[in-house]
This record gives sequence, structure tokens and C-alpha cells, in this order.
Amino acid sequence: MSIVSENLNKIRASIPSDVTLVAVSKTHPIEVIQEAYDAEQRIFGENRVQELVPKFEGMPKDIQWHLIGTLQRNKVKYIAPFVSMIHSADNLELLKEINKEAKKNQRIINCLIQVFIATEETKHGFSFEEAEALFQSDYSTQFDHIRICGLMGMASFTEDQLQVKREFESLTRFRDKIQTNHSILLPVLSMGMSGDYQLAIACGSNMVRVGSSIFGSRSYNQ
Ligand SMILES: *Cc1c(COP(=O)(O)O)cnc(C)c1O
Repeated sequence: MSIVSENLNKIRASIPSDVTLVAVSKTHPIEVIQEAYDAEQRIFGENRVQELVPKFEGMPKDIQWHLIGTLQRNKVKYIAPFVSMIHSADNLELLKEINKEAKKNQRIINCLIQVFIATEETKHGFSFEEAEALFQSDYSTQFDHIRICGLMGMASFTEDQLQVKREFESLTRFRDKIQTNHSILLPVLSMGMSGDYQLAIACGSNMVRVGSSIFGSRSYNQ
């Protein structure tokens, strides 16, 4: 058994069956991703369009590719034909562009609204107020080629577990509030990475994005 498949099995054993595992394969080559594929992993996350496209082209077509990182509007067109979910829809202009490209490709693209829950300026996303305004609007008419499946959030990079917990819980509460007040279903809550996915699940996450715990540390930081 490869290290990658051993790691995958450990993580699978540690998460409930209703939690979706996105294997974050950014910076790792196709041969390594193939080891995870051979261990039956089918959902992979990448954060750069220029890396995602060649991997999509070079790998089996039953893989579901998730875009998890900051997405520039001018790059949406390269992934619109095949991307399975975009976790990082973090502004209205980007949603407009995704909708336009989805329409061109005669697809409905699954998106998560990225909400800013951290204290760091380096993280981004809709504020709670902006996200609520979106859900109050008739967004499903305006973005008729987008399916908003839920929310995504990244906690602060800190040792303070209590703060991380508070941030995760704030997104779960917000999701519950939107569902109740606006009768909208937001089934997916994408929270948690290698260092904090257990805590995220305890706080309500049902989609975790795990990279280094599966593939090992990355040679460069991003
Ligand atoms: C890199 C990345 C991850 C995975 O991080 P690990 O700590 O390696 O598990 C998850 N989410 C996003 C948005 C990322 O960019």
C-alpha cells in the first residue's frame, strides 16, 4: 500500500460517513494523485486554474474537480467546461462571470459562497451581511446557471482552538439562520483542513478539504 492510500484510509476512518472528503492535491504531480485515485478517491481540490486544467486533462474523467482557491474572473472560462464545484465564490462579479461561462457551456455549476470568518486580512470572502443580502435577493433568477449548494469558510491560522471553534460555529449558525429565515437549502458546509478538520466536523462541517495529511507537506507554501 502506498503512503498516500494509508493516509487516506486513516482520514476516512476518522470522519463520519456523511462528511465528504476533498483531497487537496495542489502542488502534487499526477503520479501522486493517481495513488489516491487508485485508493478510490474521486474528489480532488486544486487552488490554481493553471494547475487544475492540465491535471483534469491528464487524469481519469470520473474525477470530480473542486476549485478551492481564489479565482480570478478572467480564468473562469478555463474551468467552466468541467469543474464540479467552486468553493471560493467570494464576490458578486465572480458569480456573474461563473454564471456567464456556465451558460456558454450549457452547464449548471455548483458553487459555495465563501464567507469571511477569520480575523486575518489575508483571508477573504463575503461578510455575513453581504452574504445575507445575496440570499435575500432573487439570486436564483440572476444566476440561473449556478447552483449555490452551501457555504465555505476558512478559520484563522492560530493555535487558539477556542477561536477556531468560534469561527467555525459562526458559519454553521449563519447557515442555519439563512435556511430558517429565507427558506433556502444550503446543505454543504465546507470547513476544515488538515490541522482542524476534526474540530470543523464537530462544529457542523460536512465537507473537509484535506491536503498535507494525505499527500505530505508541500514543497512551497500556498
Ligand atoms: C491548501 C488548502 C487546503 C488544504 O490545506 P492542508 O492544510 O494541506 O490540508 C484547504 N483549503 C484551501 C482553500 C486550501 O488552499
